[in-house]
Amino acid sequence: MLAGIVIGFAPGILLWLVPRLTGATGPTALRTWLSTISIALLPFFYVYALYKHKLGALEMRANRALSFYSFLVLYATGVMLIFVTMNRWIQLDSNALTFSLLASIVSLILALASWGPYRRLVNLIAYGNSYEPSEVVQMFANEVPRALDREKLGQLINYRVMTSLLVRQSALVQMTDPTPSLLYARGIDLDLSEWTPEELEGLLEHAGKYIPPDPHPDPKQQWIRLVIPIRVDERLLGIWLLGGKEPDDFYPQHDIDVLTTLANQIGVTLETIRLFSTLRTRASQLEQAYLELRRSDRLKDEFIRNISHELRTPLTAVLGYSELLQVGEGGEVTPEQEEMLQIVIDHTKAVINQVNSIIGMQMAKSAQIEKSPVNLAEVARASMQEAQILAQRQRNPEDPPLEFVFESPEDLPMVLANRPQMNQVFDNLLSNAVKFSPDGGTIRVQLRVTRHTLHVYTEDLSRTMLEEKPVVEVCIQDQGIGIPPEELERIWDQFYQVDGSATRRFGGTGLGLALARDIVETHGGKIWVESEVMEGSAFYFVLPIPEAEEQTVVDVEPQSTQEASEPEKTPVNKPQPSA
Ligand code: ADP
Repeated sequence: MLAGIVIGFAPGILLWLVPRLTGATGPTALRTWLSTISIALLPFFYVYALYKHKLGALEMRANRALSFYSFLVLYATGVMLIFVTMNRWIQLDSNALTFSLLASIVSLILALASWGPYRRLVNLIAYGNSYEPSEVVQMFANEVPRALDREKLGQLINYRVMTSLLVRQSALVQMTDPTPSLLYARGIDLDLSEWTPEELEGLLEHAGKYIPPDPHPDPKQQWIRLVIPIRVDERLLGIWLLGGKEPDDFYPQHDIDVLTTLANQIGVTLETIRLFSTLRTRASQLEQAYLELRRSDRLKDEFIRNISHELRTPLTAVLGYSELLQVGEGGEVTPEQEEMLQIVIDHTKAVINQVNSIIGMQMAKSAQIEKSPVNLAEVARASMQEAQILAQRQRNPEDPPLEFVFESPEDLPMVLANRPQMNQVFDNLLSNAVKFSPDGGTIRVQLRVTRHTLHVYTEDLSRTMLEEKPVVEVCIQDQGIGIPPEELERIWDQFYQVDGSATRRFGGTGLGLALARDIVETHGGKIWVESEVMEGSAFYFVLPIPEAEEQTVVDVEPQSTQEASEPEKTPVNKPQPSA
């Protein structure tokens, strides 16, 4: 209002006073015209000051129009005064055209330069602040990456944003689950326990609109002048409440626009904070669970190792004494007793095998296993003979026997391996083949030289890379029950069995394949299976041929092994007991 009086009368007074003081004469018509239009500013300012609270969205436009109008009047007055004063010394006739032109250009440039500061001055007078909306939004956008927790965000809004906007009272209620919480409160004592969720959500009725200070039925809401919802993806994350503000508690439209833009940024930040904290909590829970898992894994390993060693000693004694009894060392043995003793011996051997598998599991990953050149064909043949004996003993003599076929090139190159462990791999794969084969089925053991892509260590042993290497490939094929496709990955897990139920048809511990894989992989090889349900399974493993042996096989093509060297083919139906 005061500004309106000053701007309304100042041009007239100045244009009357200055020519008199300087003794200059000016264009009277222009002077009268300027004084008239500046006087009109007075009622405009008066109406604006009285009704700005009620203008709503028009308020900002009215403010802009008034600012622009008053700027034109004041600026024209200024230019006029300069001309009037200069008129004393310079005759403004057609000869002074150059001066007029120059003066016009300069005044235009000055007009453009002074419009910004003038508008700030008007805002300062009208709203009591001198910020530009873009400045607060920009400041917030720059600061927010350093405020990625609730406390810091609350401080940023409270001490930077609210201070810049001259807001005295405000609070941000976060709609946290299960009860809302306060992100910050400024200039008011907001006790959320006094608010029901319905009351809070009810405030959104007035969202985005200035609320005049009419006496409100609910005293705890009387301070609120503006409510801005904070939403992300249509989810209500918070309610921003704004109250008293300098100079007159009024929120013009451009403040509402700025606050709405800020609310959007606050929403995104709150969501980021939530995701961050969920992620951190999950990560620490996972770490905790991992440590726990490692601890129990270590305990399990220790337990298995101890129990296995404890079991092996008495089992070896049982086996030894049973064998002594069987050969008559403890007195004469009847044929029935011998048969019974054989059953005891077979079962004891089976248990010892399982215990050995468990111990082998612990040893397989040990780097200190001794390796020497091994002919896998020899190991395979010996293991196969054992399997044949096992099959014969396990099965009814009246049922059609299993057929075993052995194929291997005679000049199979050696691989660098630990022989007992290789034995173990063949034993495990063959005992499965025997176990899961139907009566009269064929078990085929094939060895050949081929090339295969394997992980090999770089020279400095710092990492592994894939390289195609000559390998000995072993395939143990049966015509048994096969493995369903969805189980093909899991059968390699320790203690996993496709049929793990107590009523299962086939015995076992679920350790054989896990052990075979560990052994093959610690030898730098690879193991896999191809299987069809009710058709049979083919377990493959490859071991790299050491470089010293490589020259004999460098030209071998993956599919041409059979032609390159005629394999030895041995169908064996009548197994020979091992020595
Ligand atoms: P186990 O034989 O002691 O149960 P393994 O680790 O040797 O344990 O085998 C895991 C599971 O894989 C077996 O229980 C079986 O379900 C499946 N499996 C292994 N070999 C064969 C095979 N030749 N034919 C069908 N299923 C097999």
